[in-house]
Amino acid sequence: MSHFATRHAIIVGGGASGVLLAYQLLQNHEFGFRVTLIERRAEIGRGPAYHTSNPEHVLNVRAANMSALPDDPDHFWRWLSNRAAGPQCPDPYCFVPRRAYGDYLASLTTPFTSSESAPPRLTIVHGQCVDLVEDAAGVTVTLADGSRHVGDVAVLATGNESPVAKFPCDADPWAPPATAVDKDTTVLILGTGLTMIDYVLSLLRDGHGGQIVAMSRRGLLAKAHRRTDPLRIDESDVPFGASASRLLRWLRGRIDAHMAAGGDWRSVIDAVRPYTQRLWHELPLASRRRFLEHARAWWDVHRHRTAPEVEMRLTQALAAGRLSLLAAKVTGIEPNASGALVRYRRRGQRDSASLQVGLIVDCTGIVKDPRGTGNPVIQRLFEQGLVRTDALHIGIDIADDCAVINRNGIASRRLFAVGPLTRAAFWEIVAIPDIRNQCAELAARLAAICDPVIPPSDSPALDGKAPLPLATAAICTDARE
Ligand SMILES: Cc1cc2nc3c(=O)[nH]c(=O)nc-3n(C[C@H](O)[C@H](O)[C@H](O)COP(=O)(O)OP(=O)(O)OC[C@H]3O[C@@H](n4cnc5c(N)ncnc54)[C@H](O)[C@@H]3O)c2cc1C
Repeated sequence: MSHFATRHAIIVGGGASGVLLAYQLLQNHEFGFRVTLIERRAEIGRGPAYHTSNPEHVLNVRAANMSALPDDPDHFWRWLSNRAAGPQCPDPYCFVPRRAYGDYLASLTTPFTSSESAPPRLTIVHGQCVDLVEDAAGVTVTLADGSRHVGDVAVLATGNESPVAKFPCDADPWAPPATAVDKDTTVLILGTGLTMIDYVLSLLRDGHGGQIVAMSRRGLLAKAHRRTDPLRIDESDVPFGASASRLLRWLRGRIDAHMAAGGDWRSVIDAVRPYTQRLWHELPLASRRRFLEHARAWWDVHRHRTAPEVEMRLTQALAAGRLSLLAAKVTGIEPNASGALVRYRRRGQRDSASLQVGLIVDCTGIVKDPRGTGNPVIQRLFEQGLVRTDALHIGIDIADDCAVINRNGIASRRLFAVGPLTRAAFWEIVAIPDIRNQCAELAARLAAICDPVIPPSDSPALDGKAPLPLATAAICTDARE
């Protein structure tokens, strides 16, 4: 039995998640999909992470773990090694420029757009998606230029929300520092995570001579990678369903024991990684909230680590007084002729202090309430009630199978989401090793829901947890012969 490519999936967003999903849908010929990938940027596979041209912006995951394909772990390393320019690092434990990873992602689409597979099964459309409508017959996606695309299913892969400028001297953290910025001005970076580190590296590379102050509530800096291997922790030893405090006690206990035996804490953090999505899923809501408020910063600096060479650059900048870290909270920002006067209170202190800055860069992270989105298609989905936020307002509400849940608690049969947009359901769904698994699983599921079985007449309402039995829904054109 063979299949024609008559099932049409429209993916909104051609960043890493969109490309990985397109690849999974297309490389399996038996899935019978053709794909339209809609991307507003000029290039595919970029997004804020991989569009940077700064060679010092390296991956924060070693090359060995960055394969796009879950069943071919060496795929990225082979691609790197086969490049004319060479892999740019000595072995798979290295950290290559993120720009190169964007090239790798873009290369995954080439076989499906080339003339060899006529007609091409992948259509890349450059434009901003502004509307998405779902009805019994399919999905219709509208672009800013008025063009429309009709498909069987649509998948949102719109990724990380771009920060919205709040002050006159507010800069985009994911764009290179503007050349107009006075090289001697004081720059305040809000947030001390990986985006802050990127921005500091860019400022230093541009020869910025002024003071750089990075401020966050705890002032914690991401730890660096070392050549360690994950410890083996058996799934049955993990306290799934425990409260956040019990879970953290357990984790600290495992770390202390491992370090007492001469091990490295990184091995324990990495050992937990295969279980983090299930841990999040089974964490009671109140514990999820407590984790976000009290433990997330600690978790993030240990889990999302930097390359050792980046650690060295930061250590030098701190030692030379070029960069200072402040554990403090901003209490007021007053714009003025030379930038802004920022008032802040140091952690544990009552009195406020102030700092005159020429530039403010909001690097406070990518977890935002999606109702405040500046993305027109997500705005429209909220207006139509096709999406809703999760209980913690950290993402849109997603069923376990990546189906988008509408305002009445019904999981869609045609509208899905992948990547960081689904963090409310999966939490650890930011890095490629997690996204590649999600995309492979969703592609298989989308193929399965095209089975010509009569769908249930009534879609059961969800309590926000249980997924619809999608395998019983016939929603795509039957492409079998
Ligand atoms: C600075 C940074 C560094 C990172 N480094 C690493 C790393 O080293 N290793 C790792 O594993 N992970 C890293 N990550 C995690 C990263 O988020 C994911 O790896 C990945 O980029 C997420 O991909 P995405 O496609 O879901 O989202 P994005 O990368 O945000 O891409 C979304 C795409 O959708 C497009 N889009 C959005 N809305 C529309 C619309 N309405 N119409 C048309 N197009 C639209 C955007 O233009 C964008 O190209 C990093 C993240 C950041 C932000």
